Amino acid sequence: MGLIAGNVVPIGPAYAQGAADKIVVAHRGASGYLPEHTLPAVAMAYAMGADFMEQDVVMTRDDQLIVWHDLTLDRNTDVRHQFPGRARADGRHYVVDFDLDELRQLRVTEGYRLTASGEEEQIYPQRFPLWQGNFRIHTFAEQLEMVQGMNRSSGQDTGIYPEIKSPAFHHDNGKDISTAIISELKRFGYTSKDSNLFVQTFEFDELKRVHDEVLPALGVDLKLVQLMGDDEGYQWMLSASGMRELAQYADGVGPEKGMIINPASTRDDLIISSLVSDAHQAGMQVHPYTFRQDEGQIPGYADDFEHMLELFFFEANVDGLFTDFPDRAVDFLREHD
Ligand code: CA
Repeated sequence: MGLIAGNVVPIGPAYAQGAADKIVVAHRGASGYLPEHTLPAVAMAYAMGADFMEQDVVMTRDDQLIVWHDLTLDRNTDVRHQFPGRARADGRHYVVDFDLDELRQLRVTEGYRLTASGEEEQIYPQRFPLWQGNFRIHTFAEQLEMVQGMNRSSGQDTGIYPEIKSPAFHHDNGKDISTAIISELKRFGYTSKDSNLFVQTFEFDELKRVHDEVLPALGVDLKLVQLMGDDEGYQWMLSASGMRELAQYADGVGPEKGMIINPASTRDDLIISSLVSDAHQAGMQVHPYTFRQDEGQIPGYADDFEHMLELFFFEANVDGLFTDFPDRAVDFLREHD
């Protein structure tokens, strides 16, 4: 398949000014409706009008990049039946221990866990049924071909939002996943900060290395996003000076949403941190994760999913967000505009 030259978007202000500038990132595709990171889930999210398709990217034993969330295969495939004896000591089957040809044999399904008695229990019980349909693992290149192909056929310009998954783990297993991902992006025409993508990772040391070494070595310059969890490793970032330090390397931050609106907030007392304003003052966008409408996923301070979106987009003033239900966020922003 031919490659389409980079999708160019105009450089706008550092952060979103109104509803029309705010973005919806389809978290693992339209993962609220179809098994995550499958090509059907990508097509659905694209048709729903999400601005960006998210790809978590993991490397195989034979150095192929696949779109996959976990380092392991156990949560949403039949690997334990197809490849008995291939688990590590912790009982898990790791992507990095399998070749792409083997991974393509696996059936992919909704996330599940095994109960103490060995029963499969679906993690989000209201979502697409376990083991229904025929879903498969695909490569990063296959998804980029699909998004670029749909951009061609629809005339739209949907972006991509790849995550470098656990770079330290990959280094420990002899893999430079960042260089592999950036090389693939370059091959697909994503070469500058004008290209319609963000590259995200949780590991600051690697973000810095990508910025200082990997991008220059490949002769490209891409927008980078520092993901943040609500734990100690990220505390230094959470101040005006921390954000200024981060902004030397990153164009945006992707915090867990509880770091912006305190989950202990009530309807009458919304506790909003300085994270968004600190990031904006440092010139960075803010794209929190993950917005879900499933049972138990709406914080007590919000009436419903749309109210939660309203609070984040227009009270906390985030520039975009990751959601498993991109149609709902797209509709919300359109109606608000
Ligand atoms: Ca991710």
